[in-house]
Amino acid sequence: MLTNHHAHTRYSDGIGEPEDYLRQALREGFATYTFSDHAPIPPEDIGSMPLADLAAYGNEIDNLRVAYHDRIRIFKSLEVDFLPDVMNVNSPHIRSAGLDFTVGAVHYVDRLPDGRPWSFQQPEPVFSRGIDTIFGGDSRRMVERYYALLREMLVTHPPDIVAHLDRIKRRNATGDYWDENAPWYRAAVEETLDALQGAGAIMEVNTRGVYLNDGNGMYPSSWIVARAHARGIPLQVNSDAHRPEHVSGGFAEAYRLLRELGVNAVTVYMDGGFGETELPVLD
Ligand SMILES: [Zn+2]
Ligand SMILES: [Zn+2]
Repeated sequence: MLTNHHAHTRYSDGIGEPEDYLRQALREGFATYTFSDHAPIPPEDIGSMPLADLAAYGNEIDNLRVAYHDRIRIFKSLEVDFLPDVMNVNSPHIRSAGLDFTVGAVHYVDRLPDGRPWSFQQPEPVFSRGIDTIFGGDSRRMVERYYALLREMLVTHPPDIVAHLDRIKRRNATGDYWDENAPWYRAAVEETLDALQGAGAIMEVNTRGVYLNDGNGMYPSSWIVARAHARGIPLQVNSDAHRPEHVSGGFAEAYRLLRELGVNAVTVYMDGGFGETELPVLD
């Protein structure tokens, strides 16, 4: 059974209408498909979806759900940023959006000297500027702060699904800033898995780095997937598609890897709740 719980459209930073993604998902035989565009961040207005578009986004998904009800199950979600004192899955506009479930993520770590939240996903020179100006050039302190924010999210406002747990590695593909095998890095991840387990959240295996060939493979790395599986944390494979042709991008590789790690089931949303289903075979 093919599913995807994390994907975007032109309502945030994706390309194409929601229906373009659905048509592609139908061509590929998906059983369910979820829209989870980036949620608006009203107080800061830094999100890629304006608050004014949120109602139209919800209405469009509701209409597609009806129009396609005999062909595919459609779910409504948002990828919700965690920004302390600003935004989380329990913010009023998220709670009133009528979502089936939430996808939570940290994309910003503290603030640049001018007060703007610092997106660690920005390419150079913004990436190193953030490490220099916020963390005195200490990338370890920055990474530990990222994982601390994830834990704060999981303890205070846990989402149903945690997106790309180690997204912080995005600009470190060549290991210029830190070594993922360093004991301090592994400890930060383990502590975050503790929080994830405590929150009862699902850990996403995000394939975006696989089909974009960004040098990082899956988010999170396979050793983290193995640790999560050993702890009994529920797993789920998502493409984080920003273009219709990517709805199942990297799935074959991710499913193969999960099987190698002894994972036989993923946790997916059906009508009304999450449950385990057998890992699909794509290759
Ligand atoms: Zn994200
Ligand atoms: Zn996303």
